[in-house]
Amino acid sequence: MELYNLTIHELHTRLSTGEVTSQEVTESVLKRIESIDKQVNAYITVTQPLAMAQAKKADEVISRGQCTPLTGIPLAIKDILCMKGVTTTCGSKILENFVPPYDATVIKRLREEDAVFIGRTNMDEFAMGSSTETSYFGPTRNPWDASRIPGGSSGGSAAAVAADECIAALGTDTGGSIRQPAACCGLVGLKPTYGRVSRFGLIAFASSLDQAGPMTKDVQDTALLMNVICGYDPLDSTSLKVEVPDYTAVLGKDVAGMSIGIPKEYFMEGLDGEVAKAVSEAIKVLEGLQMEVKEVSLPHTDYAVAAYYLIAPAEASSNLARYDAVKYGYRTSKDTGLLDMYMHSRSEGFGAEVKRRIMLGTYALSAGYYDAYYKKASQVRTLIRKDFETVFEECDVIVTPTYPTSAFKIGEKVNDPLNMYLSDIFTIPANLAGIPAISLPCGFTGEGLPIGLQLLSNSFQEEKLIQVAAAYEQESRWHLQKPTLAM
Ligand code: GLN
Repeated sequence: MELYNLTIHELHTRLSTGEVTSQEVTESVLKRIESIDKQVNAYITVTQPLAMAQAKKADEVISRGQCTPLTGIPLAIKDILCMKGVTTTCGSKILENFVPPYDATVIKRLREEDAVFIGRTNMDEFAMGSSTETSYFGPTRNPWDASRIPGGSSGGSAAAVAADECIAALGTDTGGSIRQPAACCGLVGLKPTYGRVSRFGLIAFASSLDQAGPMTKDVQDTALLMNVICGYDPLDSTSLKVEVPDYTAVLGKDVAGMSIGIPKEYFMEGLDGEVAKAVSEAIKVLEGLQMEVKEVSLPHTDYAVAAYYLIAPAEASSNLARYDAVKYGYRTSKDTGLLDMYMHSRSEGFGAEVKRRIMLGTYALSAGYYDAYYKKASQVRTLIRKDFETVFEECDVIVTPTYPTSAFKIGEKVNDPLNMYLSDIFTIPANLAGIPAISLPCGFTGEGLPIGLQLLSNSFQEEKLIQVAAAYEQESRWHLQKPTLAM
């Protein structure tokens, strides 16, 4: 066992007792990155000097007896969260050289705990994708099978955690981008309630859906990161003043008597047999813990993908209007006049998927089409939210697969965007409804690829997700398996 193999809580014990130093842990992780990241491509930037300086400072803090759970822990951060003085590309050529002059609030909170920032992880360009293949910096490979995608858009964060190239990571989730890569790489990933975590400094894709959250090796680590990143922030007008509980308090707590809802619409055509089997077995495990299992209905599920692929591109087309090559970002060398400069900079700076979304969104918002598309999609969104409200009147958590299949092959779906979009069916509803959801490992396919189990709860009930996920994890060994990285 190497230091880089450990979890946050395992390292915390060793760091706080002086058994190891943060500098040793950080060096171990950096060596791991050096030896395997050429194959995985989890990182866009490795911030080695910053990490070593932070580790040194963390060791000083620890020697003064002030070691909090994240002190000295090397974390990887998706390249969409602004970090002061460190290039933040959002996986795009247009932001290739963007160095933010400020920290995102989540980064600031982690800095205050003296966590160590090891690097910036690869992602689909502007978080638009489910495979990390739309990154300007090339695709990330799944550590469980290098010919496959790690999921997306937070695929770099997922691959980095799975390959032990960091101890834990942050991702963001607009329609599944934390949970789906967590499922594809055998990790725990939690998308918090909309408004639970500040979006200040999170480069906007679809502002009414975006949330940052943890991607970790086990449930306890997710709880530890949640304790730090959650909470009200006056810099984000959509963040809510709701008290943050200690999420570790529910670990190990009995789940007997709690109820789980199984939505019949989620066990549909297109769901892979091995995934369905693993999820059914996980439900049996929960039943064995004396949880009450009920069949429930979320009747508007079928419309979620269509609504999302109108709302998200509409918001994206507006958010991405700011990349005009005037104040920052890529600028064309074909500078023949103002309009031409805008046009060439944007068409050279954005990749194909981002352009597709901008066009879809601009169309959906345009005069004459707004009512038919954007407004209609917003109405559908309300129906989806109401579906969940009804179900949560009778059960504590909903259990579903995270993704209809295991990780697919690199290149398999790049030219078939509709197929790629349709696979987001299980993750998108939580974003539309604003509710929290967690993905955790629940098995492997015959080919050795991880399968994810998704739990959803009502708004601001992340504790229930963590409690049930921890209870399931206690009964299983899936999270302890590691890829062999035969690359
Ligand atoms: N796969 C979805 C999309 O392409 C979700 C992405 C995300 O959550 N950022 O939009």
